[in-house]
Amino acid sequence: MEHGETGRIKRERRTIEAMIRIFCRARHSGGSVPCPGCEDLKAYALCRLDRCPYGADKPACTNCPIHCYKPDYRERIREVMRFAGPRMVTRHPVLALRHLIDERQEAPPRPGAE
Ligand code: SF4
Repeated sequence: MEHGETGRIKRERRTIEAMIRIFCRARHSGGSVPCPGCEDLKAYALCRLDRCPYGADKPACTNCPIHCYKPDYRERIREVMRFAGPRMVTRHPVLALRHLIDERQEAPPRPGAE
């Protein structure tokens, strides 16, 4: 991990895990353990999060000008978000609300661009 894990990063981690679990349970695994493909996606997303150059100031990835995801992973995580986003409201309302608030914030300047 390249930066100290803040409450914000911990929350993003829980949000990613919850969304992939919801998506995979409905589309692939049928259970609480994600299928190998979704495990791979989760590991990739958590690794990106750990290495995010914004650190604790990271914007929602949707609003990020850097877009550090490889195109195929980016498309896969977008599919997860589209499916799991509305379902988060009933299953994880606090995480869902914080995620919506994050998505409304503009991205801070790119690290090193000032
Ligand atoms: S897409 Fe942007 S905000 Fe998301 S992890 Fe990558 S650099 Fe950070």
